[in-house]
Amino acid sequence: MSQSYASDEKGVVLTCPECQTANRIAYARLDQQGRCGSCKAQLPLVSWPVEVSSAQGFGTMVSQCPLPLVIDFWAPWCGPCQMMAPEFAKAATQAAGEAIFVKVNTDEQPEIASRFRIQGIPAFVLMRKGEVSAQTSGFQPAAALLAWLRRA
Ligand SMILES: [Zn+2]
Repeated sequence: MSQSYASDEKGVVLTCPECQTANRIAYARLDQQGRCGSCKAQLPLVSWPVEVSSAQGFGTMVSQCPLPLVIDFWAPWCGPCQMMAPEFAKAATQAAGEAIFVKVNTDEQPEIASRFRIQGIPAFVLMRKGEVSAQTSGFQPAAALLAWLRRA
């Protein structure tokens, strides 16, 4: 089982490990460890994939996130995408603090997929400072995805 974070128009939702309160971390602050608004405990770095819930939120994340974004375009009916999910999650954990790993369900967010001209899935887009820095596609182990991120 891999874990993931929910997101909305303004940020990523992290659950406080101490008091279980849901905290929203603004996209512009995804490189920092915030504190829980309720108990003030330090929140963990984003270390699992972030599920995109709206094109608007995705646009804000792309324009404001200070870390590179590794975007996985996938769909529930796609076998290789299912195989890829635990590898993508593993890469997200290993690259915590270095890049934010993002999942876009192409069935739910077709306009984002068409904006990036996604043909086959799984497809991966690396964005730095709002610009596409590299693209690749097809199943790959976590180590290969990390190597791609670090050389692109
Ligand atoms: Zn707390």
